[in-house]
Amino acid sequence: MKEVSSNKNIKLSEHLASPSEAALSHSNELDGLRLSPHFTLGELTKTSYITADGNIPSRVAIDNLKNICENWLEDLRYSYNTLYGDRSQEIPLIITSGYRSEEVNRMCGGAVNSNHLTGCAVDIRCYGPEHMIRMAGILLDIADGTKKDFDELILEKRGTTYWIHFAVRPEDRSATKGDACQSKNRRKILFDCR
Ligand SMILES: [Zn+2]
Repeated sequence: MKEVSSNKNIKLSEHLASPSEAALSHSNELDGLRLSPHFTLGELTKTSYITADGNIPSRVAIDNLKNICENWLEDLRYSYNTLYGDRSQEIPLIITSGYRSEEVNRMCGGAVNSNHLTGCAVDIRCYGPEHMIRMAGILLDIADGTKKDFDELILEKRGTTYWIHFAVRPEDRSATKGDACQSKNRRKILFDCR
């Protein structure tokens, strides 16, 4: 098994030799990769489903996860703590699901075209309706303040479990020079409470 290169340009193809080897690489080496100051790849790829593919994201999916962490989740974490936290202890932001391989997505009943498949979505744990609404409000404020688009902001509830499904797609940098980046983000805001 080859080692992860020490610079940030990880050659993920080297980690796909076999499912078991890939899974080992995943648990041992990739989990600690820092996507932003408060989030690691391990947090954004963890799953309770055990699959042969080891739930390993592609390089592009890692870039997409990094984009959400750097440009949205860090701001959300900071703003929530500033507005509602107690200074003695920082409140962590818990991601219950980030990247999902086809296999993991199928097992957890995810949508066929889910943004989780490309590393463009995260599920953020919320502790109740008040917490969920406050978090959603901050995400909208970040979008307004930075003039960035997001793809989905879905307030979800199943019984007494609350979370926000939040998705951001990358900007299309293939646009010809001089043009503004095309956004594939739809700013879709929904409630899915059952
Ligand atoms: Zn989700």
